[in-house]
Formats: sequence, structure tokens, C-alpha cells
Amino acid sequence: MLTLKLDDIPIEGLELEWKEEPEVLSGYMERLSDIDFRFETPLQSEAKIRKVGQSILIKGGVQTVLQLRCVRCLREFSYPLASRFELTLHPLMGMDLGEEAELTGKELEMDFFEGGEIHLSEIACEQVFLEIPIQPLCQEGCKGLCPTCGKDLNLSNCHCIKEEFETGFSALKKLKLH
Ligand SMILES: [Zn+2]
Ligand SMILES: [Zn+2]
Repeated sequence: MLTLKLDDIPIEGLELEWKEEPEVLSGYMERLSDIDFRFETPLQSEAKIRKVGQSILIKGGVQTVLQLRCVRCLREFSYPLASRFELTLHPLMGMDLGEEAELTGKELEMDFFEGGEIHLSEIACEQVFLEIPIQPLCQEGCKGLCPTCGKDLNLSNCHCIKEEFETGFSALKKLKLH
């Protein structure tokens, strides 16, 4: 995992490019979330890092291919992902966190770094996270699994749906007759 010491950032700033293998990342990502996904390719990251007063400005990008599980048909599918980001990290020591109640909404949304270190791998992983859909779909019109027989309706139709529909329809007719 890539960590940068504040003292290692020169006045003119720093440009970095790094790559991390899925095996290294999966352990960390599992702790962050219980979303069902894997890295299919290494995580490729880049960042321009600059000190601005007490804060650190990071402009960067992440790129990878994930394996997600479709919420409808439960199949795994490749999800290429590329995202740009811009972050300002503030030194945690500078904030008086003893009076948490006094923190304004704006301050709570701020990103911090602690102990003069910036954890670049974690920042990159968090950016990947932000890009994962809450309800991943293998394709926009995924038909999902039949709730009755469990067949993948993207591959072939089953007879359950039609029957269910007809039953529902005749139930409706009966209601109207009363
Ligand atoms: Zn699907
Ligand atoms: Zn069915």
C-alpha cells in the first residue's frame, strides 16, 4: 500500500503513477464494504499532489476493471471503471475535534490526513468505491431470474411468468364480477 510522507512532497509538487495488484487490494476493500465485487485487473492510479498552505491538494485518476454481481440475474460481469477526482486534505491536528458538536456541516464533509502521512492507496480505493453502482446490473434490460423456477430469463423464457400473469388476470375478472 502506497503511503506518502508530507516531507516528501517538494514545493513544486509531485506527480505519481502507480499500479496495484488485485491480491493486495482485496483485503483492504473487504474491510471497507460488503458489496460483492473483485478486481479483474490491477488498479491503475495517478495523482498530482501539491501543498497548499497546511493542506494537500490531490488531482488524480483511477482506472480498473471490476467484477460485479448483477442484482437481478446474479451473474458476475466485467465492469470497466475510470474516474477523475480532486481532493483537498486538511491536517487533522489543525482542527479542534474536542468540540465535535461545534463542527459545521461543511467541516464534517472535509477530508483529513493524520500524522503527516497520506495513504494514497486508500484514497484510490475510495474513489473506486464511489463508482460502484448500488444496484449493479449486467445490462440495462436484464430480465433477471424467474422467481418461481429460478431460470435465467436472459437465456430463455420459462412458462411460469405467463401462467402467473393469467392467474392474476382471471383473479381480477372475478373481483369485478362481485
Ligand atoms: Zn443480470
Ligand atoms: Zn419460471
